[in-house]
Amino acid sequence: MHPMPEDWDTAVAVVAHPDDLEYGVASAVASWARHGKTVSYLVVTRGEAGIAGMHPDKAAPLRMDEERRSAAVVGVNLVEFLAHPDGLVEYGVPLRRDLAAALRRLQPQVVVTTHFGLTMGDEGPVNHADHRAVGLAVLDACRDAANGWVFPETGPPCTSVRYAYVASMASPTHFLDVTDTIDVGIASLREHRAYLDGLVLQQRAVMVSGVAACSEAGGGPGLVHAVCRGSRAGAG
Ligand SMILES: [Zn+2]
Repeated sequence: MHPMPEDWDTAVAVVAHPDDLEYGVASAVASWARHGKTVSYLVVTRGEAGIAGMHPDKAAPLRMDEERRSAAVVGVNLVEFLAHPDGLVEYGVPLRRDLAAALRRLQPQVVVTTHFGLTMGDEGPVNHADHRAVGLAVLDACRDAANGWVFPETGPPCTSVRYAYVASMASPTHFLDVTDTIDVGIASLREHRAYLDGLVLQQRAVMVSGVAACSEAGGGPGLVHAVCRGSRAGAG
């Protein structure tokens, strides 16, 4: 594996749900923020279908607020929501248009998303349909945003994107040492109080640490958390 390039200043992390970034990526975001980089979050849904027993009308603002607080913990000040329907996100032109428009607005040099393969790991559970739709659309939107003939109504082309990172791949190619910020990443997860209500938060925190330990065992020196770059949809 290779260390992630550091020759950039602005990034946007794009995921389907509030809390998707808090199981590992947030630790990397905290590290980048400490090194003076500006990272913003773009969340495709408002997470309104994510809390059993709580009506979506109540869950949506609550989860958006939790994500904003979580982002603030790792140094992210800008969090945007696209309000696609939680649980029913469709890969397609409307989603690609919304994402391309956001990239044209934000002009990031780095785009981060999460694994969009069919399963989590080679033998894990089926990945969430929203994750599968969003990850693929994010990578396609990077190309769309750079093409002035595609979605011209959303503004001038975005030609700033230099790297697209996909986290939680089964076979990562790049890594970032987050030894110094993994605790901050876990703290950001704790901000999702309502979502995690009824779950064992400590178990979640251990899970984040466990991911780090696995990465360390299989990766380069000092590696605690790995993300990989590219557009390939791996199995994990
Ligand atoms: Zn999710």
